[in-house]
Amino acid sequence: RRSPSRSSIESPRCERDVRYLILSDIHANIDALETVLAAAQAWDRVLVLGDLVGYGGAPNQVIDRVRALEPVAVIRGNHDKAACGLDDGSNFNQVARFAAAWTNQQLSSANRDYLRQLPMGPTEIDEQLEICHGAPFDEDHYIFDAMDAHRSLQTATRPVCLFGHTHLPVIFTISGNNLTGDIPEVEPMTISFDRSTRYLFNPGSVGQPRDGDPRAAFSIYDTEGSIDLRRVEYDVSAAQKRISSAGLPQSLANRLAIGR
Ligand code: ZN
Repeated sequence: RRSPSRSSIESPRCERDVRYLILSDIHANIDALETVLAAAQAWDRVLVLGDLVGYGGAPNQVIDRVRALEPVAVIRGNHDKAACGLDDGSNFNQVARFAAAWTNQQLSSANRDYLRQLPMGPTEIDEQLEICHGAPFDEDHYIFDAMDAHRSLQTATRPVCLFGHTHLPVIFTISGNNLTGDIPEVEPMTISFDRSTRYLFNPGSVGQPRDGDPRAAFSIYDTEGSIDLRRVEYDVSAAQKRISSAGLPQSLANRLAIGR
């Protein structure tokens, strides 16, 4: 493991800075994804933190769109595993399991194969950054509290670790023994990285936000040493119509309007 002093975001670099568009938990919501891609602007490459599908009504469209972006890295989420048959969904609630089975039926064989070959996180992107779906020590673990965050910050091999899975934007930091957890209240918010601090960051969910704000959430990570947290309004009713006309549970459409 690199010590924080050696793995600084501000260390000299020979190549130009890269702006990564960070997408997490898209959940087959093509309306949210297209709006995010149009709103994000000025990004160079894409990183996807898992759960491309599940819950939403447009799984093939989302996978096709993500593949066309040629992301630097896409890691699998628990819903991706369930939708392509790598996991039987037995730990899912009834609605999620129903949606996973529906998604499995819908997937083209090429897209099913694509999901099946997605790697398990964590994935190291460069000397500063790694990504995972749940937690760096377990792809299916939910990081909710300080204990989860502390364990994750200890496990992460890079000073900045991005995760998804909870659909809740949050920033944990540790500097020395001082752990902090912050829920970003304003956006856009830019966090500039400090060389003596390690970061654990959830950008929130593109396609199914759960923090009470129905707007799509995404981030832009700049290798120069900062991350932007962003939200964008999208056509929720269009996404709801896709869910309804697919015959998916109405609760999945309803929750999009309230962001829960
Ligand atoms: Zn998810």
